[in-house]
Formats: sequence, structure tokens, C-alpha cells
Amino acid sequence: MKILIVEDDLVSRRLLQEMLEGWGHDVQCAENGEEAWRIFRKGDFKFVIADWMMPVMDGVELCCKIRGKNNSGYVYFILLTGKDKKEDLIEGLDGGADDYVIKPLDREELKVRVRAGERILKLEKELTGTNEELRKLNVRLSEICMMDPLLEIGNRRSFYYAIEKTHYNACRYMQNYGIIMCDIDNFKAYNDTYGHMNGDKVLKRVVDAISEALRLSDDIYRFGGEEFVVILPDQSLEGTRAAAERVRDAIESVQLEHTGVSRGIVTISCGVASFTDSDKTDKWESLLNRADKALYIAKDEGRNRVGMLEETIADESLFPESKNQPK
Ligand SMILES: [Mg+2]
Repeated sequence: MKILIVEDDLVSRRLLQEMLEGWGHDVQCAENGEEAWRIFRKGDFKFVIADWMMPVMDGVELCCKIRGKNNSGYVYFILLTGKDKKEDLIEGLDGGADDYVIKPLDREELKVRVRAGERILKLEKELTGTNEELRKLNVRLSEICMMDPLLEIGNRRSFYYAIEKTHYNACRYMQNYGIIMCDIDNFKAYNDTYGHMNGDKVLKRVVDAISEALRLSDDIYRFGGEEFVVILPDQSLEGTRAAAERVRDAIESVQLEHTGVSRGIVTISCGVASFTDSDKTDKWESLLNRADKALYIAKDEGRNRVGMLEETIADESLFPESKNQPK
């Protein structure tokens, strides 16, 4: 172990150095607290043995300085002292020392106390390692909680988190935002015809095609089953509708075979809605409801299309200064 010895008395310092080196430690010496502080700051010391009474800077002051520094890992500090009154020892330990050894030094006592310090440092190191592993696992766990394992996009929980934030920003900063509910048409029939494994592959192809058709600032989430929802920050209703049309067209263009339906290919239907004045008092749920109803309209009108509630068209001029156009 790397140990820093601080002792103003030359004979005691040499004796201490010999003992510690004899027990296999890597020792560096300083004559007083100030010199020790300079050495400590440059080196990676986890163990300090310091005399209390020293000129320039004493052991307790050195200990306070070390405790006040933002060290990586714990520093074990043993104070050497000729003072053996209870109140003196309390003062020394109160300054942050972990242990003390009363002078004149007893070889065996010092050996045992150094070993105790080594044990503490070893435990501290193990604990730090375990904490770091736990921290990494926690990060991974929260990622898993927010992701759809099959499609590697955000899940419904993640969508709720994102829309809450988007809605809050829209209310606070007078921004538009839109959402698109997408549903793969006749997906049950696809699974019945091609099996669920192939159904999963289609889900992936559809998500990839939707993602490619969107702006980088738009995010797609799996809402459940074959249903996806897209959040388009800072987007008007017309912009959202145009984006949904691009998305619908992108899926149609992939030409994924689906013999279970008359069109012969996989298609999707979309329902769109965007933030309106009344949504400022309402929650985002009403927006989601409108997109959901719009999706049903698209389904009712024959699928492979974009639906929109008529009453929402009138709200288009909500933020006329917003000129964002879809790509
Ligand atoms: Mg001294």
C-alpha cells in the first residue's frame, strides 16, 4: 500500500519508514503538514500517517485539508500523538482522523492499526465498485423500461413521458405540435396468413419506413400491438397531415406482400390531430383522443388513408407565425 508519512522528528520518521517498508508498503515521507499537503495533492495516496505536533502545519490541520479536498475514494488517516488525555484525542478524531497511535510508538500496535486501515480501504473500494455497477444497471433498467424490446423504439410509457413534456412546452412557449396515430391495416389477417414471426418482421419494416419518412425531431412510439404514435414538435395541423400522408405513402411504396387483403400489400391508416387553443386548458389526452377518432374515420373510409376530424381544420390558424413545413 502507498503510504504518506508526515513526521518532523528525523529519528521517528526514519523508524516509521523502516517499519512500514518492512511490512511491504510503498512509503513517501514529509517533514511537516505543508510539505505533506504538496505531496498529497500530486500523488494518489489513500493512506496517511501523520504526527500531530509539527511546525508550519500540524497533523490535525493537514487532516482537515485532506477531508476538505474532493478526493477520489476515501483516505485513511492515522494521527500520531504524545497527547493521551481523552479530550485531546477527541479533538484529534473530531478533525477527521480515523485512528490514533500514542507515542512512543509500539511496533505491534501500529502494525495492527495499519492493517485495520487497509481492511477499511479494501471494503470502501469494493463498495465503490458495487455502487458503480448498480448505477450502470439502473441506467440500463430505465432504458429497458422505456423501450419496446422487439422494435427498439419507445414504448407506451415512454410516449406518455414525451407527450407530457411536449404538451408542457407547447403551452409554455406558444408552440404547435401534432400527433399521428398509425395502425397497420388488416394486421390480424397478416398474422393469420404468414404467422407471427413474419408479422414481427413486418412491424420492423413498417417502423423503419415510418422513421425514414419523418423529420429527425419527430419521434415514433409503439402504442400497442400494430399501433404506433408519432409526436411532431413545433408542427401545425396541415404540416402534421402532410407528414402522415408521407408516412402512409412510404409504407405503400415498400410493397410488402399481403395476400390476405384485396390490395395485395401492407398498408397503414393514420389519424392526425394538432395542438389547439382549447388544449391549453385541457390535457394532451384530448389531442390523443382526436387523433384516435381520426384514425377510425380513416379506417371507416376504406383504410390506407389519413383521417382528420373536420372540426379541427378551423383551428389551423392558431399560431400563424409558425411557418414550419414538413420536409
Ligand atoms: Mg512532532
